[in-house]
Amino acid sequence: MASAQRGKPRSLDCTACGACCFNDDPRYIELWSVDRERLGPSLELVGVERDSQWFLRMTDGHCSALAVGATVGPDGVTAMTFHCTVYESRPDACRAFEQGSRGCEQARAIDVPRARLAQRTEPR
Ligand code: SF4
Ligand code: SF4
Repeated sequence: MASAQRGKPRSLDCTACGACCFNDDPRYIELWSVDRERLGPSLELVGVERDSQWFLRMTDGHCSALAVGATVGPDGVTAMTFHCTVYESRPDACRAFEQGSRGCEQARAIDVPRARLAQRTEPR
């Protein structure tokens, strides 16, 4: 999840999107030594070691550092919210990911978060 970039469309709101933090690949984002040092104590919570390499831990199809919530607006419409709980110490890959970039467009095109969450809330 990128921070807001100057000159990008105002309609893009990472806290209402979160798409780039969703992925089914357990090796979606590798944590380099600089990332692990920056994460500090959070590494054990949001990282996982596989075959001597570290990655962000993916849980329920998204990064375990992503907090997914919901807010109900004055119009009664529920909106999903997405927050990175390690934003200040997020890994380099997340820092380099630009809002409005091609990768951002691709992630939003898939729209995994809403698709997943809609499935979870479907009546059974
Ligand atoms: S896909 Fe783009 S708009 Fe959505 S959270 Fe990531 S950077 Fe932000
Ligand atoms: S560390 Fe933060 S920005 Fe990076 S994938 Fe996880 S929730 Fe998203």
